[in-house]
Amino acid sequence: MKKSNPWKVALQQLDIVAKRINLNSGIHDKLKHPKRTLIVSIPIRMDNGSIKVFEGYRVQHNLERGPAKGGIRYHPDVSLDEIKALAMLMTWKCAVVGIPYGGAKGGVVCDPVQLSVGELERLTRRYTAEISIIIGPEKDIPAPDVYTNQQIMAWMMDTYSMTVGYSAPGVVTGKPLEIGGSEGRVHATGLGVTYIVEEIVEKLKLGKPEHLKITIQGFGNVGSALARFLYERGYKVVGITDISGGVFNDKGINIPELISHTRNTPYHIIRGYKGKAEIIEDYKKANHRLFETGTDILIPAAVENQIHRENAGRIKARVIVEAANGPVSPEADAILNKRGIVVVPDILANAGGVTVSYFEWVQDLQAHFWEKREINKELEKVMRSSFKKVYQTYKKEKCDMRLAAYILAVSRVARAVELRGIFP
Ligand code: NAD
Repeated sequence: MKKSNPWKVALQQLDIVAKRINLNSGIHDKLKHPKRTLIVSIPIRMDNGSIKVFEGYRVQHNLERGPAKGGIRYHPDVSLDEIKALAMLMTWKCAVVGIPYGGAKGGVVCDPVQLSVGELERLTRRYTAEISIIIGPEKDIPAPDVYTNQQIMAWMMDTYSMTVGYSAPGVVTGKPLEIGGSEGRVHATGLGVTYIVEEIVEKLKLGKPEHLKITIQGFGNVGSALARFLYERGYKVVGITDISGGVFNDKGINIPELISHTRNTPYHIIRGYKGKAEIIEDYKKANHRLFETGTDILIPAAVENQIHRENAGRIKARVIVEAANGPVSPEADAILNKRGIVVVPDILANAGGVTVSYFEWVQDLQAHFWEKREINKELEKVMRSSFKKVYQTYKKEKCDMRLAAYILAVSRVARAVELRGIFP
């Protein structure tokens, strides 16, 4: 299926909100333009002695509410339009949970799977050096995203620190604990989604955890963590898919057992699971079953655009909670809305990750580290109170929950623009 241009979609989304809140046209125009867009070329020496040049980007969409925040992705399909759209999304995500950041995103067009560890390190260090003119603990704080991880953040932190001449752990988040990372970061997104599930279950009076069926697409960092948190709270997870297939058990899947199985497989996949469940070893068929056999709560936690124009009419769920970024296309959103399926949007549901990233940055700046219990407590406060505000807006505005979250976020950013005024 042809993918729509993500930047055009982001602008359309903004137009809809602007109209709804009667946004001043000048502020609307300002928000349509990223504040800074940096395109860099990254020449690196490959292991065979040749030189290869990669293209990289760092886009800062808006800095009105604080320094910029957003991940770095390494992927062959990275494009400037995608990075601009994701930077804008970060502006709204930080605003909806009320953390004092603007939005940014970065990316390098490359296939990390084809690079050796040495090439990946040289690519990361040169990319960091190239964008170091606009990043920094007070300016713009990158984090991991698709195909970037703690090690890459450690190289970024080291490169930046070498440039400025002192250790600057606050320049990136998602670092290893040993060099200023935060407790609780690895599971923060999954835990944040769990709080959102609890809130929506209560608000919509969906029933007791043990009577509810939950299905999850994706069993990686986010999917497996949230499955475990839900399982520990007594929810019945009856279907899970990943890129290797799916497991289904109407009585509830034994999540700790499945996690221990995936930990012991080379690519952490669910294929080969021998526990009590029906196994489907084809991810397309497994997703089909996941989406189209009835469930109370469906949680896409894999990749974008999984629920689209073609399958939205057949989704059987009462509620969809978007743990992944952009799993529901705008066309699907309209169809689901008409069918009365409530969608809790990504900018709210998966904001636990950026929230604990914010805690990591605060700890780095203070050189004082908190305990995991404290971090989870603070995360819970942020997620539950943000949900309540979005829910109130959803009721008051009689719109869908995505629009409610955008109304809140865009209004907050617009107010910051208004208060600060236009320079000079
Ligand atoms: P991950 O790479 O750890 O896991 C992705 C999972 O999705 C894997 O289990 C993979 O097998 C599965 N998958 C991929 N394609 C699939 C398909 N077509 N059908 C079924 N399963 C498929 O990634 P992650 O960190 O868990 O992130 C998942 C999503 O959550 C992404 O959209 C990401 O942008 C979003 N997100 C992650 C974080 C975070 O803190 N990691 C924060 C916010 C949002």
